[in-house]
Amino acid sequence: MNNFIKLLFVLVIFPNTIIAQSSGKNYEYTIDFLHMTDDEVTVSLTPPKNNFKQGKFIIPKLIPGFYQAMNFGQYISQFVATDKNGKEIQTERLDTNSWMVHDLKNVNKISYQVADGWDSLEKDTHEARSAGSMFIKDSVFVINYNSLIGYFEEIKEIPYQLNIIKNKGFYASSALDYQKINEITDRVWAKDYRQLVDSPVLYCIPDTTWLKVGNTEVLVSFYNKKERHYSKKIADEIQNILKNQQAYLGGKLPVDKYAFLIYYEASREEGYLGDGLEHSKSTVCLYRSGSMNFLSDALRRVASHEFFHIITPLNIHSGEIQHYDFLNPTLSRHLWLYEGMTEYATVHMPIKQKMISLDDFERSIEEKIRNMKEFDNTLSFTELSKNAMEKQDQYMNFYQKGALLGLCLDIRLRELSGRKTGTQDLMLKLMQKYGEGKYFNDDELFDEITKMTFPEIRAFFRDFVEGSQPVPLKEYLAKVGFIYDETQEKISLSPHPDPKQLALRRAWINQ
Ligand SMILES: [Zn+2]
Repeated sequence: MNNFIKLLFVLVIFPNTIIAQSSGKNYEYTIDFLHMTDDEVTVSLTPPKNNFKQGKFIIPKLIPGFYQAMNFGQYISQFVATDKNGKEIQTERLDTNSWMVHDLKNVNKISYQVADGWDSLEKDTHEARSAGSMFIKDSVFVINYNSLIGYFEEIKEIPYQLNIIKNKGFYASSALDYQKINEITDRVWAKDYRQLVDSPVLYCIPDTTWLKVGNTEVLVSFYNKKERHYSKKIADEIQNILKNQQAYLGGKLPVDKYAFLIYYEASREEGYLGDGLEHSKSTVCLYRSGSMNFLSDALRRVASHEFFHIITPLNIHSGEIQHYDFLNPTLSRHLWLYEGMTEYATVHMPIKQKMISLDDFERSIEEKIRNMKEFDNTLSFTELSKNAMEKQDQYMNFYQKGALLGLCLDIRLRELSGRKTGTQDLMLKLMQKYGEGKYFNDDELFDEITKMTFPEIRAFFRDFVEGSQPVPLKEYLAKVGFIYDETQEKISLSPHPDPKQLALRRAWINQ
């Protein structure tokens, strides 16, 4: 995973079967991708019926998983509110991301123009394009609704109805279900703003392949200007991974639908650029490279991590995530869980499922150790998580040290349980306890996990996750019959493991 791959965690989503009526109780939006002018899209909305004298309209400053202000309001212009007679109602722009709309109760329509955040992957910027939107008239639209759609501070947590005007033949690939109204109009519902922002869409002439993994419908949607029949090849690659993940997760996947939205741009330069953003039930992957040959491998590596997010934070998350504030968010202290445990599962699953050799597994741990050393490991992981916005340079350590902490926790749990349960079981238990609609209190999670497991686990969290003691890799790997040579950064099998070590290793990695 390279530095461009940022990962979004959001939760939400009920089955997309909410039947709401357009009765003034929801936001009604129209977005016109068909009649673009000057690279801009026209958006209009009718606010829900209300009695407010004024209202603050917000376009996100940040979105979950990114720890920098992205100010999506910067793409909005010509913001105009009118009453039912078409008479203009006064509005003021308060700052980049918010507007005061006067006499809100009499506003019948608000309209504005939206510019896209990027139009190719060509320029090598560090901007998170996978969180923004791109419009290429009559060709392709990569849409994250946080850059097109907003909400009133006073009117939150209600449904959205979107009417999308688009080119004939364009198909909406998304975790949400788009309903065809006519050749150039689709309609989609979201139960609230969070779900909408959590559900990006790729609009273009379809190159799509559907997979069925257990009870989950998986959509693989691909866009490239020239190559229009490639989704099948990618889907074949992804299928094997998802099947193994299903087995690893006890045979059942907790989502009904999942979408991989993949945009690929050819380049004359060497190397490749990847920018990814995962959501509860979908992932946006943007790639640019000189050759498509790398794509399968890149996706195989990324898909597994992204897909494991269906466990956390989708089904296991704190109140900070459930009630995310798009202007001034409070962060959770549990990135060790959302990203660390997700990445650990990505490393652990292939060896447990016998997809890779023991040698490959050892190398993958060594790589995590080497990468971890690039960061400041004297920082408390819970503190780092709370302050991820100020500590962006340390954020990627949740994928390195976070995964190694997961490894140690797994070995410790298997040791304490007499080899019966590890982190696989712990995650499933947490998912049963909380699930999609129920959050935990940020400061109670460690005690809750301790109650569900063993008293000794509280000390593990205190020392290594809340505290800043070094990851106890040497000691824990010894428990499962490995030698960790810290100076050489090498991991190898002990020449003379005792039966206890052998049994614990077998329980841990099937070897
Ligand atoms: Zn992630």
